[in-house]
Amino acid sequence: MRRAPLLLIPAFLLAAVSAYPQAAATKVGSQPAQAVIAHPLLPARQEEIRPPVVGEPAPVPRIVLGAQTTRPLVALTFDLDMNQGMAAAARAGFRWINTDATSYLESTNVHATLFMTGMWAELYPAEAHRLAANPNFEIGNHSYSHPAFHSPCYGLGSVSRTVQANQVQRAQQAIERVTGVAPEYFRFPGGCYDRPALDIVHAAGLIPVQWNVNSIDAFNVYPQQIAATVLAGVKPGSIVVMHLMRANAPSSAAALRLIIPALQRRGYVFVTVSELLAAGPAIQPTDPREVVEGAPTRPMPPRAPQSCGWVTGIKGRVYLCR
Ligand SMILES: [Zn+2]
Repeated sequence: MRRAPLLLIPAFLLAAVSAYPQAAATKVGSQPAQAVIAHPLLPARQEEIRPPVVGEPAPVPRIVLGAQTTRPLVALTFDLDMNQGMAAAARAGFRWINTDATSYLESTNVHATLFMTGMWAELYPAEAHRLAANPNFEIGNHSYSHPAFHSPCYGLGSVSRTVQANQVQRAQQAIERVTGVAPEYFRFPGGCYDRPALDIVHAAGLIPVQWNVNSIDAFNVYPQQIAATVLAGVKPGSIVVMHLMRANAPSSAAALRLIIPALQRRGYVFVTVSELLAAGPAIQPTDPREVVEGAPTRPMPPRAPQSCGWVTGIKGRVYLCR
């Protein structure tokens, strides 16, 4: 029933992406199953990922945390945040991209999903286009400039529902214009959402995707800690959230060099979100309130005062609060 808006999108977007026929063929699909078929899989993967059963389309999940499967599949997902402040730094020459991590991902041939803000795609069009053209990568929408879709949300600015809807659409247009790919999935900035926010994303024909393994790579200078967190949390069907902005996630590349080989030794295959959802129904939150926010509504025990400052890690200096 909710599939209808999703089916319409690829039809009118195909014309726009015709300049990039490969990207269009692999990324623009009305159903997750089609994306799996279209992906040029490695021989080993073709055995791992069974063709989808043709029949009634599965209902569109309200929100995705992972997939119900016993197969050793895991979806690494990476957010590419951008806001006005970061954009100002970018215009002054700062690069919000972890090329060490992207090069490593490309060299390992793992499949992954990259949630791009529209503003990031516009600031780094060559990188955005190159990543989107890689058939191993699926591109998702991470809003245009990373505001909160439900507040409080880690200090992200709150905007009206109208602006939220505009953020989704504007990012969709920017990403498609830059990369030739129309995302099918949306990730809320900060992972914060409520029921009306979910409605906004579904009205745009997109499926909200969260995670069930938080790598805690944001502002973390300890790759071993990130890797240990991911390796302890991953189960068949997991979605892992990480970041690719380097300065905001300085140890992601080093952590990936620990995570990917370790999971491969356990027999895991890395898949995109579409491929994961083709393997089993979505894991969804059980909380009927449909509210997730950065700061819990329950009273929190008093915290020790934070101290913030510059810390020199293996990737250089980062600003940390703890
Ligand atoms: Zn983000």
